[in-house]
Amino acid sequence: MSNYHIDTRCVQAGYQPKNGEPRVLPIAQSTTYKYDSSETVGKLFDLAEEGFFYTRLANPTVDAVEKKIAALEGGIGAMCTSSGQAANMIAVLNICSAGDHFISTSTIYGGTMNLFGVTMKKMGIEVTFVDPDAPLEELQKEIRENTKLVFAETISNPSLVVVDLEKFATLAHSNNIPFFIDNTFATPVNCRPIEYGADIVIHSTSKYLDGHAVSLGGVIVDSGNFNWDNGKFPGLSTPDESYHGMVYTRDCGKAAFLTKARVQLMRDMGSTPSPNNAFLLNLGMETLHLRMERHCSNAQKVAEYLEKNEQISWVNYPGLKGNKYYDLAEKYLPNGSCGVISFGVKGGRDAAMKFMDSLQLAAIVVHVADARTSVLHPASTTHRQLNDQQLIDCGITPDLIRMSIGIESADDIIADIEQGLAKL
Ligand SMILES: *Cc1c(COP(=O)(O)O)cnc(C)c1O
Repeated sequence: MSNYHIDTRCVQAGYQPKNGEPRVLPIAQSTTYKYDSSETVGKLFDLAEEGFFYTRLANPTVDAVEKKIAALEGGIGAMCTSSGQAANMIAVLNICSAGDHFISTSTIYGGTMNLFGVTMKKMGIEVTFVDPDAPLEELQKEIRENTKLVFAETISNPSLVVVDLEKFATLAHSNNIPFFIDNTFATPVNCRPIEYGADIVIHSTSKYLDGHAVSLGGVIVDSGNFNWDNGKFPGLSTPDESYHGMVYTRDCGKAAFLTKARVQLMRDMGSTPSPNNAFLLNLGMETLHLRMERHCSNAQKVAEYLEKNEQISWVNYPGLKGNKYYDLAEKYLPNGSCGVISFGVKGGRDAAMKFMDSLQLAAIVVHVADARTSVLHPASTTHRQLNDQQLIDCGITPDLIRMSIGIESADDIIADIEQGLAKL
C-alpha cells in the first residue's frame, strides 16, 4: 500500500480481504480466540508466532486500523488505545519512569498538560515546558542527563502554534533522545512528521481521523528509525523480567518500542479500544482526505471573513498571510493546516459568550475536528483547570473562541457568524 497516494491509503490500507472474505472490514466482536493446541497458544505468548490471543493486547479489527494508520504516517507499525490521553500516557511511560525528565512545548492540549505536569509529576517524572518558538540554543539548555524525550504538537490545540519540526528533531537527536509528536490537528493527510525527523507520532483519533465525533480513541505510531540501544533506555535494551526476560531491542528489532508498549504497558494498563470503535474509526478514515480538504478550505474562508470584520479583535489561523506561523505552515503544511481557528470578539469574555449563545448552525460542544461546525470557550471549559499564567503559556486569552469549522457550506457558516455578531 505504501506506493499508493495518501488518498488511496485512507480508503484501502489496513484491511485487504482475501478471496471470498467480506469486502468491508469486519467487526471481530470477541474478547478471545480459539486454538486447537496449547502449544500454539504458548508460542503466541512467547511472541514466537503471530496471532491473536486476547483482545486487550490485539484484535483483528483494531489490527487493521493500526495498519492503516501506520501506512498513513509512514511508520513501521502502530498501536491503538482507548483515547488520545491513553496514547500520550503510554508513549511517555514506555521510556520514562520515576527519576526521569522530559521536555514538552508549553503550547499543548490542556489534558496533556495536566497529564505531564501533574499526574506524571506525582509518579516522579518531571517535565520542563518550553516555548515552542525558542531558538535551538535556548532549548538545548533545558536538556539534562536524565532527559528522555522531546514532545510537541504539530499544530497546538487550541493556540494553533505550528512547531518547527526539524528544530525539535535536531534538539532530540543531537542528545540521543527521540522526538515525539502529537499530530492530531494536522492529520497524516496534511503532515507526516516522520518525514521531518519525528520518531514517535501520536494522535487523538477522536478528532479528524474519526471525523464524526462518534468514538474516542488514540494511537501511537512508531517510525522504526530511533536507535533505542544507546544506553539511555534500559527498559528497552535490558531484560524485561515481567515478560520472561525479553530484551526488546534484541528480540523485536525496529518494533522494540511498540512491542514493549503493547506487551508490557497495554497488558498492565488495559486502555484498549473496542473493536466496534475501531470499525467506526476505519469508516471515518476512509474519507479523511476528502474531509481535510474541505475543513481547510472552509476554515480559510471563515478566517479571511473574520479578519475583515470590525467586531472581531483578532484572528488566529496559520493559513492567514499575516499569521506568525504562516511560513512554518507553508513549509510543513503546504496543503492546508486544519479546520480549527480561534479569534476574539470585541467586548471580551462577555461578548464572546453572548456571540456563542446566538449561533444557530454552530453548536457549543466540548469537541473539535468533526464534520459539524462547533464553538468552544477554552478558558471556561477545556482549560479551566489552568491558572491565568498557565493559560497565557498555552497561548490562550480569556476572550478566545475556538471554532472548529466543519464540512458544511462555508457560506452558511459565515452567515451564521454574521447573524451572531449582529446580536452584539
Ligand atoms: C483531544 C486531544 C487529546 C486527547 O485525546 P482524547 O481522545 O480526548 O483523550 C490529545 N492531544 C490533542 C492535540 C487533542 O486535541
